[in-house]
Amino acid sequence: RARGLTKVYHMGEVDVHALRGVDLDLFEGELMVLLGPSGSGKSTLLNILGGLDVPSGGSVHYLDHDLTQNDDAALTRYRREHVGFVFQFYNLIPSLTARENVALVTEISSNPMRPEEALELVGLGERKDHFPAQLSGGEQQRVAIARAVAKRPDVLLCDEPTGALDVKTGVIVLSVIERINRELGTTTAVITHNAVISKMADRVVSLSDGLIHGVERNAHKAAAHSLEW
Ligand code: ATP
Ligand code: MG
Repeated sequence: RARGLTKVYHMGEVDVHALRGVDLDLFEGELMVLLGPSGSGKSTLLNILGGLDVPSGGSVHYLDHDLTQNDDAALTRYRREHVGFVFQFYNLIPSLTARENVALVTEISSNPMRPEEALELVGLGERKDHFPAQLSGGEQQRVAIARAVAKRPDVLLCDEPTGALDVKTGVIVLSVIERINRELGTTTAVITHNAVISKMADRVVSLSDGLIHGVERNAHKAAAHSLEW
């Protein structure tokens, strides 16, 4: 639950107002898509929601926990235990197999899936012994998704997960994210320019110049969920 979020980057003489008062709830189990032009503040907002960055003003609550109380240990715990991240670049370790890349996370989680299970979830059960260089871009991104969900996060945050992929491969990756949201009930927010996901989303939130300027609820999907907002 974000309220009145502002973010100012001080760049020498210049102040960049990346967020200028954002109120946004991410509801349990929903799939939310964040749209907006370059520089509108999407990544800044997602990073703050995920505890990777802190706002200049306003508050973020996760359930009853205030994440904006300058408590670094609490923020780190939130990020480690509850949030999974997926970025445009997969950041896999080239010298480790798909299974080993996922295992890096499962080894330090309290209630993880088996790496094989996470890879099966993204449709890569057969590729677990492949190294990143032996996988296509879309497959590498699916390994990155397996790594993000293997610790069973409550919240999955994806910043342009299809940004480095062609449209068709991007759709496959987005379908994997949609399936995880549906089958595991993982609350998910995705930044993407790929129009296909708007159909998969429960809500589409548009940012413009650091402010929310539109929220569209997907009526088709809302019927299947009993969320209220
Ligand atoms: P894109 O679609 O290009 O990824 P975005 O919507 O994700 O854009 P942000 O990355 O959130 O936009 O950036 C919002 C504004 O804040 C931009 O003007 C950007 O230049 C600025 N900004 C972002 N990160 C920093 C930073 N670490 N230091 C200084 N300015 C930053
Ligand atoms: Mg961005």
